[in-house]
Amino acid sequence: MMYDVAIVGCGVIGSSIAYRLSKFDLKTVVLEKENDVAMGCTRANSAIIHAGYDPAEGTLMAKLNVRSVDLTKDLCKKLDVPYAQIGSLVLAFSDEESAHVQRLYDRGVANGVPDLKILSAEEVKAIEPNVADNVTCALYAPTAAVVNPWEYALALAETAVTNGVELRLEAEVKAIARTDAGYAITAGDDTIETKYIINAAGTEAALVHDMALPHSFEILPSKGAYYLLDKSEGTRTKHVAFQCPTKVGKGVLVSPTVHGNLIVGPNAVDCAAGDTSASSDDLAFVRKMATKSIPSIDFRQNIRNFAGVRPNSTNDDFIIEAHDSFFDVAGIKSPGLASAAAIAEYVEQMMADNGVRLTGKPEYTDTRVQPRFKEMSHEERAEIVKKDPKFGRVICRCETITEGEIIDSIHRPIVPRTVDAIKRRCCAGMGRCQGGFCGPRVVEILARELGVSRQDIDKDKTGSYIVRERED
Ligand SMILES: Cc1cc2nc3c(=O)[nH]c(=O)nc-3n(C[C@H](O)[C@H](O)[C@H](O)COP(=O)(O)OP(=O)(O)OC[C@H]3O[C@@H](n4cnc5c(N)ncnc54)[C@H](O)[C@@H]3O)c2cc1C
Repeated sequence: MMYDVAIVGCGVIGSSIAYRLSKFDLKTVVLEKENDVAMGCTRANSAIIHAGYDPAEGTLMAKLNVRSVDLTKDLCKKLDVPYAQIGSLVLAFSDEESAHVQRLYDRGVANGVPDLKILSAEEVKAIEPNVADNVTCALYAPTAAVVNPWEYALALAETAVTNGVELRLEAEVKAIARTDAGYAITAGDDTIETKYIINAAGTEAALVHDMALPHSFEILPSKGAYYLLDKSEGTRTKHVAFQCPTKVGKGVLVSPTVHGNLIVGPNAVDCAAGDTSASSDDLAFVRKMATKSIPSIDFRQNIRNFAGVRPNSTNDDFIIEAHDSFFDVAGIKSPGLASAAAIAEYVEQMMADNGVRLTGKPEYTDTRVQPRFKEMSHEERAEIVKKDPKFGRVICRCETITEGEIIDSIHRPIVPRTVDAIKRRCCAGMGRCQGGFCGPRVVEILARELGVSRQDIDKDKTGSYIVRERED
């Protein structure tokens, strides 16, 4: 079969583009090398929808970040993705940093960020009493928000699939050859013929680019490690509390997550593309920097450490370029999550400008709902349990996730096959015990619903087995 468009990579960028293209009469396939959506940078980041004052004026990053803030808010509402507009603060602790905050304010105004304000030390302490006493001032950006990044990508990909996009998992693109009609892509064991390619391969985007075109950029991976603290620490701050950004990153932040935990991090160190280790040195640095902002963080309430890898590149800006029928959407470093919706809109326009016929489909589904038992009223709970008693059986006690929600996740358009894929969809295993209690039950439910044995259920990436031997 000849596809019109093949998207390489299903992180938030591939998903956002697939979602936008799914409203058109195009035969689109997404090729993802891992066993689920959002397995790269998209699953390990700070989860902030930045307001847009940080990127340099005139860059694509500035334009697309600011444009994306409202688009992301609308998308999360429409596709039932957890999102909270909690606002952000950039804290200054010296005269030099106060001057930096003023520069960020000026840049934000130039970038078109609405409602920015510089708060005095007293104003900061009034809204964030746990901030260190030596704070001198802060930039307040009320439009900044937090989201669930992997659910955002999943919701976009799921809606794309609902609308006819084909998603192939474990389909690593290994070679691309030019043909008369377009390209022949070797992906996994298959050859895929397509007229157009969109390269959204994150930290591997330069490798994919080089399969089809002369070398023109490099990805310079940079790792950032985090603490995720229990919900008992979730109110240490009400806003995203940044420090003044440096050349390598936005500094160590302290923020509530959209689920009510506290996230603290990241640092920034050069690394290999797939290196998601969080070393004790990384974490010591994060702790030291974070307590400069919020001295009272109780790190004994840590429930998980993790690291994400930024797809920084040899370019200062996002690399979003058309090369005839090959489109690079590469080097999508921070604020890539915040900019994804506008990046996809930009790519759609770039494709139209390069001759791709975008004809709307007569029928298109643009909503999605996910049952969330713990957010339901008593009446809603009673009703859903009456319809399906499995919603009355709590499997994950920390997060109050029911068997009904797990089964609903399994029978959605993108089928989860691992314990962590269930966690990403309905939060089972996200709580204080990190799946210690519910993990084995989730394995059982997955095996039963998918009609496979327990040995076939991995924890995370393919090969991360949990049950090794047959137990007959
Ligand atoms: C520490 C850290 C903090 C961050 N914080 C924020 C933040 O708060 N706000 C924000 O806006 N941004 C943030 N970012 C940036 C944001 O996470 C990224 O911009 C975004 O996730 C990039 O998405 P992507 O789809 O380009 O990449 P990815 O999510 O990495 O997706 C690329 C996909 O391509 C797949 N792939 C690779 N090679 C192949 C191949 N050959 N064949 C098939 N598939 C392939 C990968 O498996 C992967 O799934 C942060 C990043 C990091 C690391």
